[in-house]
Amino acid sequence: MALSAASYLLTNEKFYIANSKFGQGLFAKKDIRVGENILIFTGGIIDFDQAILKAPPYEGDALQIGKSIYVNLEPPGRFVNHSCDPNAGIKNDIELVALRNIKAGEEIYFDYSTTMDEDYWSLQCGCGSINCRKVIKDFKHLPYHVKRKYLDLNIVQKFIAVQYPTTAKAK
Ligand SMILES: [Zn+2]
Repeated sequence: MALSAASYLLTNEKFYIANSKFGQGLFAKKDIRVGENILIFTGGIIDFDQAILKAPPYEGDALQIGKSIYVNLEPPGRFVNHSCDPNAGIKNDIELVALRNIKAGEEIYFDYSTTMDEDYWSLQCGCGSINCRKVIKDFKHLPYHVKRKYLDLNIVQKFIAVQYPTTAKAK
């Protein structure tokens, strides 16, 4: 897998890194349109045991892409924070894509639960959205309608999405 990009690009024509209420975050430098690709997550590949050695808060820097496969995120992907009402999502496991029009200066978020299936990690959430779930947990714990929304948007990691066939009537 050729995920290792040497460029520690912290800004480009689309985004920049700045202080956020969650530490540092990724912000839109210009208006970004729904469907637009924002960045590709890059980093070395590590397994579950290596990922959990990354003590809080750095555990969030490992992006799960398989049952025990993680991308040990580099900047700038490492700085993308979570929201329970995200304006971006991950397609094809590593591509951050806008879910709606994002205005210049807005912070860019995805929902971490769309990447998590490990029965291990959880995090208190203070994202402030009206739908805030208060605790960020594995995808399987999301309310049914939220799971369905994310699956329909095709922004759930493939190794998780395959567990939810489109015809499934299970919850
Ligand atoms: Zn939240």
